[in-house]
Amino acid sequence: MISIWWLLSASVLYLIFLLIISTNVQWNFFVRANNGVKNHDKNEVALTFDDGPVENTLQILELLKKYNAKASFFCIGKNIEANPDIFKKIIEEGHLVGNHTFSHTRKMGFLNRSQIISEINSCNVIALKTGGVRLRLYRPPFGIINPKIKEALKITQHQVVGWNVRSYDAVLSSENYILKRIIKKIKPGSVILLHDNNIQTVEILEQLLLFLQTNDYRSIRVDNLFQIDAYS
Ligand SMILES: [Zn+2]
Repeated sequence: MISIWWLLSASVLYLIFLLIISTNVQWNFFVRANNGVKNHDKNEVALTFDDGPVENTLQILELLKKYNAKASFFCIGKNIEANPDIFKKIIEEGHLVGNHTFSHTRKMGFLNRSQIISEINSCNVIALKTGGVRLRLYRPPFGIINPKIKEALKITQHQVVGWNVRSYDAVLSSENYILKRIIKKIKPGSVILLHDNNIQTVEILEQLLLFLQTNDYRSIRVDNLFQIDAYS
């Protein structure tokens, strides 16, 4: 009887362990992701925006222009399809675009290898058709990297970009709190995760850009921060 309980709790603990390591891309458990540069010797950070392009992205682009900042946008394929002009504008204004799957399905962690490959490739196809770019940087939806996603990425030849400053702008409701959280964690070489499909991100962004300006930080694209290629 004791051994059954022991086995059961061991299995539950193992499942929890698997769940935690698969959803924390910043731990580099399955793949080495570009999460940030340690001991970076320049006052540079990378602002990254997931889940666009959407209407709201336009306000973000305005702010980035106003503060002379460059950023990286990890786009969802079906949103590129719905907002092709916004996608093109991101590229025209000198920002980086990357792959964030075609549908951003909540079932990401349960897809098989060929379904994952199809999610990644379909996003690349629409990005090429719309913006003429062959994306090679991948940002995992929900931060999920598991052995199947790792295999898929090997085949599609995408490199993973993670983050080391999570804003929780998509879940927290107090703008002030979100901003304080980000500012406390920023240091040279930081990669900051934001969401351009969030209205409150616009409010946070202006404050954040002011903070960066006052503290002599420059916001650059992730390919420049990690010295990797954005496109192939
Ligand atoms: Zn996302």
